[in-house]
Amino acid sequence: MKSIPPTLIHSTLAQQLEPEGAFIYLNLALEAKKKGIEVVSFGIGQPDFKPPEEVLNAIKEAIDKGFIKYISPLGIPELRAKVAEYLNQKYGTDIKPEEVAITIGAKSAVFMSIALLTRPGDEVIVPDPGFPTYECVVRYAGGRPVFLVLREEDQFRMTPERVEQCLTKNVRGIIINTPHNPTGSMLTKEDVKGVMEIARKKNLFIISDEIYEDYVYEGEHYSFLKEPDWRDHVIYISGFSKTWALTGLRIGILVARKEIIERIDLFATNVYSCPPAPFQYGALKALEIGLDWFKKIREDYRRRRDTAWEELNKIPGVKALKMPGAFYLFPNVKELVKKMGYKNVDELARAMLFEAGVVLLPGTAFPMYGGEGYMRVSYVLPVEKIREGLGKVREWVEKKIRG
Ligand code: PMP
Repeated sequence: MKSIPPTLIHSTLAQQLEPEGAFIYLNLALEAKKKGIEVVSFGIGQPDFKPPEEVLNAIKEAIDKGFIKYISPLGIPELRAKVAEYLNQKYGTDIKPEEVAITIGAKSAVFMSIALLTRPGDEVIVPDPGFPTYECVVRYAGGRPVFLVLREEDQFRMTPERVEQCLTKNVRGIIINTPHNPTGSMLTKEDVKGVMEIARKKNLFIISDEIYEDYVYEGEHYSFLKEPDWRDHVIYISGFSKTWALTGLRIGILVARKEIIERIDLFATNVYSCPPAPFQYGALKALEIGLDWFKKIREDYRRRRDTAWEELNKIPGVKALKMPGAFYLFPNVKELVKKMGYKNVDELARAMLFEAGVVLLPGTAFPMYGGEGYMRVSYVLPVEKIREGLGKVREWVEKKIRG
């Protein structure tokens, strides 16, 4: 074996970092395209619409005005104040501007909050399936993730009963994601209240990643911020990537009590100095415009969800629930894996890409065992494309089964 130069030996901590399945399949899809395969991708979780023109103009204007310098690590004061006002209107809360941090995407907010609250040896409850970053950072901080396996019979919700079952004497916090990636599930108001009650009793922190809060097709999103004592337990995370389709701007939101924001300030200072100023002016404009224009988008996404759900259930061996939120479905493909003779969903996903030209992510990309036998379908494509892509999967399956 070739020896590794000493300067490149990885630290123990660096070895805790894992790749993200969505990005792995992005590269595999490129490989397939190079081989001349026409690919329909339900892989990456990225909305396909264009954000309002005014938002883009606000960014250009900010650059023209020279807002291209270092600013406060917590973001421009105007945006912090606007986020507080916007959320207060939306959720009837009393958030103050100093309780808001603007971050580099929701992802850095997730990273910083987990890293700040987890001590070596602490256990943190994370959803499985769930966004892979959660468990990765818990380990990175020296903690131990306690995987709460979401069950199809609970519509993949992280119910208070399931949280209760995961409690050990070392559990110090719970990571929640509602609406949920990768299943599209949503906590009910009762679920939120029940989980909050556990946090009160056991003195736990809750990191609530609500980045899909506006992609809701059934019922209403109930934010953890609506609980009057949220400051004692909750860190709320959201951002501009999903509702505003601004994934590339990397502007996230973190809301927490002031002492935590002060630590985020130090963390951000040492990692990235500040979130980019011009993009924050775009984000500010987005909040000024408000959510009325998004209603049309949501209706369109509802049609996409309904189409994906219908088409998936036409595939032999696939059973999909109609999920209420985000832009994901999480069909059960256990029968299909068996029928086709694959070892697991990962094998199925690879064959589907290279033989049928369709990307569905294996549930095990999120990130442990809870997703085995399931696949994530990200319906960020026009209705016709959804029909075409899932139709291709059905034809491929039918042909293979007939053999
Ligand atoms: N949380 C969840 C649950 C997500 O699905 C994503 C994006 N895939 C993020 C956070 C990260 O969002 P951002 O682009 O704002 O970093």
